[in-house]
Amino acid sequence: MVNLARQYQRLQPELDEAIRSVLATGQYIKGKEVTNFEQELARLVGYQEVVSCGNGTDALQIALRTLGLQQGDEVIVPSFSYFASAEAIAFLGLEPRFVEVDEDTFCLDPEAVADAITPKTRAILPVHLFGQAAPMRELLELARQFHLFIIEDNAQSIGCIYRFEDGTAIPTGAMGDVGCLSFFPSKNLGGYGDGGAMTFGVERDKQSGGSHERALVARRIANHGQEKRYQHLEIGCNSRLDTLQAAILLVKLRYLTQMTARRREVATLYDQLLAGINAIKPPFRSPTSQHVFHQYTLQVLDGRRDALQHFLKERGIASAVYYPMPIHCQPAFKDFVPKPKSLRKSEQLCQRVLSLPICSEITNEEVLQVGEIIRDFFQK
Ligand SMILES: *Cc1c(COP(=O)(O)O)cnc(C)c1O
Repeated sequence: MVNLARQYQRLQPELDEAIRSVLATGQYIKGKEVTNFEQELARLVGYQEVVSCGNGTDALQIALRTLGLQQGDEVIVPSFSYFASAEAIAFLGLEPRFVEVDEDTFCLDPEAVADAITPKTRAILPVHLFGQAAPMRELLELARQFHLFIIEDNAQSIGCIYRFEDGTAIPTGAMGDVGCLSFFPSKNLGGYGDGGAMTFGVERDKQSGGSHERALVARRIANHGQEKRYQHLEIGCNSRLDTLQAAILLVKLRYLTQMTARRREVATLYDQLLAGINAIKPPFRSPTSQHVFHQYTLQVLDGRRDALQHFLKERGIASAVYYPMPIHCQPAFKDFVPKPKSLRKSEQLCQRVLSLPICSEITNEEVLQVGEIIRDFFQK
């Protein structure tokens, strides 16, 4: 699906030097690279502030904790996403309210969100899935109207730009109260281990303090509730990006724009190769969002998704089903009260989606080959 070793080879001299220099300094935790990375990331992507942490799941949990919610408060989340999006909510004793996604964008359907709002709803957790932004204009409007927080799960869409109707362009992760990133190796900006961050934009309103205050709280929670050493103001956790990962990410960050451009090029090539196959619905390009193609996810409409995946596999092509089961159907939510309502579209998407190999190092020849195999399959 992604060729991480190939990327390492391409950037090897710079990466080796960055790793070697961290090893030589002995500052393996809280080295200067961690702060440098936070600042560079904020500057390059356009966040007001960045607070790094141990992984994307921690980022979601800590972000939710900054909101000061009470047990039983409801958080609206799409059911068609990675498990962690809802897990973070449930782990904190909050109530995930699973909501339907749009079949084109794979992101939260604003009408379904509006229907799911109750007096106990406190926050919306949109996921910018596969590299494209959720409908933020509508969601921000609902948040304003009902006094809700917004936590953006931006693990898959670093660097994606959302365009408002008045032409304002804002990066995902800088529109809500907190944005959450993951630097898991296969993400668009991936380290060589776990890593994550919370991102903050220009403050939206004064509902709950400014974004800088929230960033300070996030930093404190991630550091055992300390602001000063050995003074623990609240119960926190230990969640940090280590210096080695920060040094690696600093190198890769310089190539993020270039790597994203290549992903988009690969996606356009796939679009061309698969055009005209009736049973395939290619990924939709939203007019309000750029697409950074964390995944190139098509929908197989004739029920032969698994057969196509098998056909590809037999010819040495890896593909993946993200996600085979909506979160509300997972065994972990089996005894959940109230029982999540069935979500027809999300369940159907799980039967239809197939993600093709995509990364910044894939060659045009490789993409052409995948396209040919898929055409073969549908011509039989
Ligand atoms: C990867 C991912 C996460 C979790 O990130 P980790 O760093 O693996 O903890 C959360 N949400 C989504 C949508 C993801 O893709």
